[in-house]
Amino acid sequence: MAYLANPQNTMAILKKYDLTAQKKYGQNFLIDANVLEKIISGAEIGKEDCVLEIGPGIGTLTQYLAEAAGRVAAVEIDRHLLPALEDTLSSYNNVTVINEDILKADIGQIAEKYHGGRAIKVVANLPYYITTPVILRLLECGVPIESITVMIQKEVADRMGAGPGSKDYGALSLAVQYYASPQILMQVSANCFFPRPGVDSAVIRLAGYETPPVTVQDAKQMFALIRAAFNQRRKTLVNSLANAGDLQVSKAQVSDALMKMGLSATVRGETLTLKEFAELSDRLTAVNTSA
Ligand code: SAM
Repeated sequence: MAYLANPQNTMAILKKYDLTAQKKYGQNFLIDANVLEKIISGAEIGKEDCVLEIGPGIGTLTQYLAEAAGRVAAVEIDRHLLPALEDTLSSYNNVTVINEDILKADIGQIAEKYHGGRAIKVVANLPYYITTPVILRLLECGVPIESITVMIQKEVADRMGAGPGSKDYGALSLAVQYYASPQILMQVSANCFFPRPGVDSAVIRLAGYETPPVTVQDAKQMFALIRAAFNQRRKTLVNSLANAGDLQVSKAQVSDALMKMGLSATVRGETLTLKEFAELSDRLTAVNTSA
């Protein structure tokens, strides 16, 4: 089977299997070989690797993954694509297509079955309508994942990589950076897809940490603080945390904790680093448990 990574072969397969790109599943197929080669080299895939691909579509990226990796498990929600995938992947014996929703699939079981529970790599041209839930699920699932290299909307990639003080910095930046170190590998023009998406895209690589960058007593509480801080990002941190009823902290407690950290009581959440949010969370936990 020829590579699909050009407009002619992509159209031919869609026609042969009477397929049209489904908007509801975020189907924008890659048609640029150069971009595919860069994804493979950026993801640093070798024969020792097992790759989890999300949304193989008609198999465009999967063909490249099958050649570079030892094993590929590709989770695709749309069963209408299965006959085309059988055809386009017929010359590879190291690929398994799993017809499931990635938001429901048991990722631990996939890692166990295809890689004996060792760390896997995730590579995907993600369906944009579920970018954030998919990434958070992968990061939070507790399954060993060495890296996640994915094509996503450029705007979301910018938010994942942003630091304190930037307009893109927010709860998503902190959630991602708690688990992984993000690096934007390249920007990708809408012309590299069929059909052409209405947004700009970028490939981001999230490399899992060997040791976490911060330790925090109660990560759940830290993320509740972060969410509250950015829900009202124009307010001072003292006001946004005290206004968030579920946190049960007073203005005095927050300003006291900030003062002990050497920060002003008028700071906004958007200026705090992950390390500072972790420290603030620990200080407020201590206040609540001693109360
Ligand atoms: N990998 C192909 C490529 O690069 O040309 C297709 C990428 S397309 C942007 C996204 C793919 O994800 C589609 O094949 C779509 O059907 C699939 N998809 C959408 N939602 C999904 C879900 N919840 N679970 C698994 N696959 C999904």
